[in-house]
Amino acid sequence: MSNPDATEKKLIGINGSPGICIGKAYLVDKEGVDLVEKYYITKDNLQNEINRFKAAAKNARDELVAIIDDTPEDLRQHAYILEAQVALAKDKMLYGRTIETIEKESVNAEWALKKVVSNVKKMFRDIPAPYLRERVTDIVHVSDRIMRNLVGVKDVNIADIDKRVILVAHDLSPADTSRIQLERIKGFITDRGGKASHTGIIAQTLGIPSVLGLENATDIIKTDDIIIVDGTTGLIIIHPTDETLVEYEEQKTAYEKYKAAINRRSDLPAITKDGFRLPVLGNIELPEEIVSVIDHGGDGIGLFRTEFLYLSRNNFPSENELFDRYKDVVEVMAPKPVTIRTLDIKGDKTLPYLSDPDETNPALGLRAIRFCLKRPDIFKAQLKATLRVAALGNVRLMFPMISSCEEIHEAKKHLKEVENSLKKEGVLFKSNIQIGIMIEVPSAVIMADAMAEIVDFFSIGTNDLIQYSLAIDRGNKQVAHLYNPLNPAVIRMLKHVVDVGRKKGIKVCMCGEMAGDPFNIPILLGLGINELSMNPQSIPSVKNTIRALDAKTCRLFVKEVLKMTTTEAVMNLVTDKYGDLLSK
Ligand code: PEP
Ligand code: MG
Repeated sequence: MSNPDATEKKLIGINGSPGICIGKAYLVDKEGVDLVEKYYITKDNLQNEINRFKAAAKNARDELVAIIDDTPEDLRQHAYILEAQVALAKDKMLYGRTIETIEKESVNAEWALKKVVSNVKKMFRDIPAPYLRERVTDIVHVSDRIMRNLVGVKDVNIADIDKRVILVAHDLSPADTSRIQLERIKGFITDRGGKASHTGIIAQTLGIPSVLGLENATDIIKTDDIIIVDGTTGLIIIHPTDETLVEYEEQKTAYEKYKAAINRRSDLPAITKDGFRLPVLGNIELPEEIVSVIDHGGDGIGLFRTEFLYLSRNNFPSENELFDRYKDVVEVMAPKPVTIRTLDIKGDKTLPYLSDPDETNPALGLRAIRFCLKRPDIFKAQLKATLRVAALGNVRLMFPMISSCEEIHEAKKHLKEVENSLKKEGVLFKSNIQIGIMIEVPSAVIMADAMAEIVDFFSIGTNDLIQYSLAIDRGNKQVAHLYNPLNPAVIRMLKHVVDVGRKKGIKVCMCGEMAGDPFNIPILLGLGINELSMNPQSIPSVKNTIRALDAKTCRLFVKEVLKMTTTEAVMNLVTDKYGDLLSK
């Protein structure tokens, strides 16, 4: 029961994975790793120091391999995260540079490692795509592990915890998270981390509530404190009163009932009350994630962010390597569609093996299609692999960050050349596949009518469309309060694109985060978006929301929405009209 001497306290963080848990806190302490002193090493001892670092890195790798071997079957699909960390522990960026720093600056291994990691962090800081920025988290986790081996701090073994508790940690690496025993750990909260972090991804797969990015939870919460974790809203309550406990027990029961009910029906199509079917597809970053799309009842892959296959390696993947990886997705999903988006990468620092000049404003730089058109060799390898794999299933091709018709013409020209060379090579491939573009730059919205003449479908990328049209960096915490898909300017742009699509007879899909939030569904349905794609975990609740709505009423509702001039007014309108339905 609650502690009468302590007062109730609330903390707000980032909602990592939904659900509610109530229980005793268990603090996971990792002190010692951050406190590193600098000292100089004499010339004679430099090789010993390098060997000491090499041994620590090897131990870190061995530990990770042991964790991979012990990973339970249902988390195997995420072993790639740990495998990437094993590779990072030997990667030039971390391993090579630390050795170089010890040598050049004659400093101790701990200091050299700390310096290298802090440079890497700076390098990744300005990257717009959250999942790319999150790569730095992997590097930090690996370096923490090497550091623990260097300074001799023992790793907390989460698998040894034998009580039913809620973990409270400064940070949990994917390795830690994958060792969580579901029958013991009710949920977890961390000071560090964001929604797109790998730890967050695994938490969603585990299906336990988590709140991330709380900043100072480990300073405030002590082991055995009673806490409530609301992973749906990102709220933590410490020392809850008896009334609060009762209230959350009820919410927890209701949520669990709801989740069980929607998961039972996730395989069925999403059809509105008046008989309109809206396909709900999943977004993936790596082939392994199709398991989650299938488990959650996805009607296909609406966005395959292929750039992930280019990370965690030392060179560009070859056409054959890409073909093999795409094949894993396309064959399993067939006859359902798989939308292969060509490389969306910023073009410089994100790939360690690419030596393009630095850009002061990378979000507006040589990103995505711009990079590909400048590097036809890389682009064509991807196009070739895509056309070849298209012969094995239902494949659509999509170009990201299109801002002009010229870019589409040029991309299609490369595609034609690739078709010709495949013909000459006599390889099996499919021509005339569906070609689409992401609508995520304002100029593409304005030129949508002209673009609709030369492509087969649009997919609206609201994550970037909001960033570029409202001038709000999608990764900047300072302006996060302004970043809202229900901004009337965004809704008007969506309406324009959908109207153009309807008039020109091409499909308009949405694969930005906006599509995965049930709160937005009445508007998206009312606008007439033809297909939604989202993170796989959101599929059941979005399908469920669609089933509870009437498409005709939503169309009339959108007419009212379009009269609103502020985000708040739009949100109030949705809450007034659909609040009850959406909270069920
Ligand atoms: C988007 O911008 O909305 C999108 C889906 O693409 P990404 O998040 O990969 O930039
Ligand atoms: Mg985008």
